[in-house]
Amino acid sequence: MGERIDFRDGHWVVPDHPIIPFIEGDGTGPDIWRAARRVFDAAVAKSARGKRRVEWLEVLAGEKAFKETGSWLPDATLDSIRAHRVAIKGPLTTPVGGGIRSLNVTLRQLLDLYACIRPVRYFEGVPSPMREPQRLDVVIFRENIEDVYSGVEYRAGSGEADAVIAFLMERFGAKIRPGSAIGIKPMSKFGSQRLVVKAIQYALRAGRRSVTLVHKGNIMKFTEGGFREWGYEIAKEKFAERTVPESEAGGGKGDGGRVIMKDRITDAMFAQLVLRPDEYSVIAAPNLNGDLLSDAAAAQVGGLGLAPGGNVGDGYAVFEATHGTAPKYAGLDKVNPGSVILSGAMMFEELGWADVAEAIVRGLGGAIRSRRVTYDLARQMPGATEVSTSQFAEGIIEHV
Ligand code: NAP
Repeated sequence: MGERIDFRDGHWVVPDHPIIPFIEGDGTGPDIWRAARRVFDAAVAKSARGKRRVEWLEVLAGEKAFKETGSWLPDATLDSIRAHRVAIKGPLTTPVGGGIRSLNVTLRQLLDLYACIRPVRYFEGVPSPMREPQRLDVVIFRENIEDVYSGVEYRAGSGEADAVIAFLMERFGAKIRPGSAIGIKPMSKFGSQRLVVKAIQYALRAGRRSVTLVHKGNIMKFTEGGFREWGYEIAKEKFAERTVPESEAGGGKGDGGRVIMKDRITDAMFAQLVLRPDEYSVIAAPNLNGDLLSDAAAAQVGGLGLAPGGNVGDGYAVFEATHGTAPKYAGLDKVNPGSVILSGAMMFEELGWADVAEAIVRGLGGAIRSRRVTYDLARQMPGATEVSTSQFAEGIIEHV
């Protein structure tokens, strides 16, 4: 009998047989979920020798939900994820022309999943545009609720946009071309600091050297500049003994085990990740910077096919493949299940089952090194043999 995961005093309380809801996803979702679930069960069985086991609970969303219930995102799904706290999902078709805005956005807001976490690391053998892709190994914490994702945006020429423009011009003398579209970029101290706290806590837990605040504060002084200022402030306030600002750090070698707090301007950061990737470890960024950086970094190590993601709040988390449904391959047992598999590894790590997470990563690394890989990797890896999604999963399990 499975039990629910709980969250008490800022920590996950995970039973040996946790119930974890999953959404298999649309398009190729069922193919990759089937493969991923086998890998997860094998990794848990191997690491826990029968002591632990996950009880997977299917919840519906997307096309399958629409067919069975008439709703893209049934309330029962949201209730179940809320009750079980941690879930994993495959990709979902975004319905065009009405219905729900996006399941991801709805879940984020409903459960206050304020940190989007994207680890980016290289797997030996994966084709990459870089000469030394292995030098990049970062975990990006991106604010998930505020900034340009707040959704406060008005169409050009609309009454709302014109009213906002008139207000800003009359009250504050702002210069805005009449008829412009208007988007609002709210960034709070509260929202910025809780994101930076999560990044620092992770760096401490994972033994990471530094946390870099990425911002465009040279131009947007109060929003992006605020993010930088509030980030340093909370590091000093909450982690005085365990962090040190770069300006006060000595040799750059961790300064007695303390995490070095750095900041970089966004445009410079893109260049730095290409030129000196090994100087960065954990990155904390506002929404838009983090969005752009996450995909750019993933491209450096060989693309989005293997990039995992997690949306995490306080006591709730949803992990997901970062690619879409790739509908033309649906049901062909063809696509790469790596992204959802690595998202599962993130989930187990977050829940404190680090041994399971390591086993999954080891398995995937081994399968890629053996050069028996899905089409997307095989077409770029000299001497590789193309295998199906399920055969790739078997390869991973062999190396777990
Ligand atoms: P996509 O599904 O990510 O597919 C684009 C291309 O990426 C595929 O044609 C394929 O490239 C490659 N690809 C994607 N997943 C792969 C995998 N697992 N293994 C190997 N290759 C993979 O993007 P899209 O076509 O723009 O979007 C399709 C649907 O997905 C849309 O309804 C969109 O809204 C939705 N979507 C959902 C999410 C989500 O739920 N998180 C995210 C993004 C998009 P090749 O053609 O070169 O083989």
